Parts: sequence; C-alpha cells; structure tokens
Amino acid sequence: MKIGVLGAGQLGRMLALSAYPLGHQMSFLALSEEDPSSLLGKTFIHNNDPEVVKKFASHSDVITYESENTDINIVNEINNMTSVYPNERSLFISQHRIREKELLNKLGIPCAPYEIVNSLVDLEVAVKNIGVPSILKTTIDGYDGKGQFLITSESQINQAWKVLSGKPSVLEGYINFKRELSLIAVRGIDSDIKFYPLVENSHHEGILRLTIAPARNVSDSIQNKAEDYMKSILTEIEHVGVLTIELFETDNDLVVNEIAPRVHNSGHWTIEGAKTSQFENHIRAITKSPLGQTNCINKYSAMINIIGTHGAIEKILKTKNTHLHLYNKKERKDRKLGHVTITADSIKDLDSSIETLKDFLP
Ligand code: AMP
Repeated sequence: MKIGVLGAGQLGRMLALSAYPLGHQMSFLALSEEDPSSLLGKTFIHNNDPEVVKKFASHSDVITYESENTDINIVNEINNMTSVYPNERSLFISQHRIREKELLNKLGIPCAPYEIVNSLVDLEVAVKNIGVPSILKTTIDGYDGKGQFLITSESQINQAWKVLSGKPSVLEGYINFKRELSLIAVRGIDSDIKFYPLVENSHHEGILRLTIAPARNVSDSIQNKAEDYMKSILTEIEHVGVLTIELFETDNDLVVNEIAPRVHNSGHWTIEGAKTSQFENHIRAITKSPLGQTNCINKYSAMINIIGTHGAIEKILKTKNTHLHLYNKKERKDRKLGHVTITADSIKDLDSSIETLKDFLP
C-alpha cells in the first residue's frame, strides 16, 4: 500500500524502515528536505499550501501521523480523500490535556488532580485548592517537559503564569511517584489488541534518557491493571494503531500522566527487543493486516537516547549487544539525534552495558 505520514521526523523514519520489508511505499508531508524521513520516501514540502496537502493525500492509500501536535484541520481536510489512522478522535483527545483527563475520568482511570486555568486569578484559586508542589502545564503543544512550570511555593504564581505566557493551562497536583512507567499497545482495525510489557523510564530535564524493558519487579496485577486501562481507552476511542500510556507508579497504584496516539520513544527498544517492533505493528494495524507478536526476544533490553551531540560513535559500535540508530539530524542542544538499544540475558549484564555506554554518550 501507499502509506503517507503527516510529519517526517525520526518516528516517520522508523515507520518507513519497518514498512518497506512488508512491501509498502512511503511518503511524507514534511517541513523541509532535511527532515529525518525525507530520503525514505516521496516527500511533499508543506509550506501551509492546501494544494500540497491534497497532492500528498491523493498519493496515499492510508495516512498516519507521528505527533499528537499534528494540525487537526489538516486531518479533517484529508479525511474526505483517504483513510486516516489513528482516527481523528484519538488525535482530538490526546492533543489537549483537559480532553485527555476528561476521558480518563469518564473511564474511571486515575490521573493527577487538576484544575483548569485560563487566567492569573484562576491560577491563584487553583493553587489554593490543589496546594504545592503542583505543576502548571499548557493545555496544548507541550512535549519533552516543555510548556510546564513546577510551583513549589505560592510566591511563584506570577512567575509561572509569565513563563507559560498566560496560555490556557491546567494545574496538576504533584504525584509522589516511585518511578515512571509506560505501556505500549496496538489495536487493529478488527479490534484485536496486543500489549508490550510495561517499561521503566528515566528522564533528565523533561527528556527521556533511558528505558528498561521489561520494567523490573512488576507484578502481574500491575501489568494487568495497566492493560485494563489501555484496553478501555483503546476501545472507547476506537483507536487503530499504536497507543502509549505514560504512567506514574506510586506506593500502591498506577496514575496515568498522559496518552500518546502513536509509536513512542519508550518503545524504540522493540526494534531489536521484541518479536514485532512497535513500528511494524503500527504499520500492520493501519494497513488492515494481522498484528505481530509483542513478546520480548531477550530477557532485558534498554534504550538510551543520544541527545544534543553524537558522542563516541565508533566506541558505541564496538560495544557488544548494542545497536545504534541515528536519525540523520544535525547536533543541537536537547535534540534527539538517535538512540542505542542494548540487549542482555540478565539485569547485571544490562546494567554493566549501560554503565559502559554512558562513557561514550553525551
Ligand atoms: P509531561 O510533559 O506531562 O509528560 O511531563 C514531563 C515530566 O514531568 C514527566 O515525565 C514527569 O517526570 C514530570 N511530571 C509531569 N507531571 C507530573 C505530576 N503531576 N507529578 C509529578 N511529576 C510530573
């Protein structure tokens, strides 16, 4: 099939790399010829030109997107011309923190307490009600910890409002979590669902650094609970494709932070670590094909992001049981340039490889 991707970043690139062996062709609606996916298929440069969007859509049998921040007006436009998966509802909900929380509340899934904030006065009231610490987050367009302010004292209210430029926001109660987990699953057009195991994520300055898969010491009841949450979200929004839930694990519960209607950075390990990668399963789902197995191949896998600068590439390539993925991006502060996957038969071997690689990475 001819698959179009709205966006042409590293996620589009890895989707393409898994789509070609299945005989598909790829095209991208890109911002520039330099985008990471642009050499992997026909590239339509967007430039806000509706004619280009139409050409892109008429060139594709099915269209997907690589970000929840995708312009929903474009999806509306092309929906009349070709199928878009995940459907518009998945995008509509997940690109807006309040809609996302309303969905979670409706389904009885725990999330942080929150208040809607549209003015400085709203923020003052919200801080009184929720207390500190709490986090002010813009309603839309937040990613990698951007568009957020941690309020630890009432004296920071003015500053928080200024830093977020007075944009519509939510104030969330701070969750005292033990660790951050995520669950990735895929749902086919025939409603079949497959789950990957819960994974464990460490962030630095809001950006994912390290994922360990499967997460250590996860009881069946925690995995089942996360899968139940996932299943009810996927079913409610009739999602088709991969969906990710980011979770906080507290002493005795799981609290959902946010959902992403797409392949996710915490699932990159599946390329070498699972029988079918998240990318291939997304492609299978949107092309009405049977879903692939999601079991782990190795006892443990880890994914380390390469951020800002490339590090000692030669040394990474010489490290055993590691796989390097570069996205063809120029070095820039805080930019995700690639990732390394490590596979191991024991947590001890995994830890030691992670330690070795840390010396080679920025
Ligand atoms: P987000 O953009 O919502 O994924 O938030 C980025 C990071 O901020 C998360 O990965 C957490 O480490 C932290 N964070 C976000 N919301 C909360 C919260 N309500 N309580 C505690 N930490 C949070």
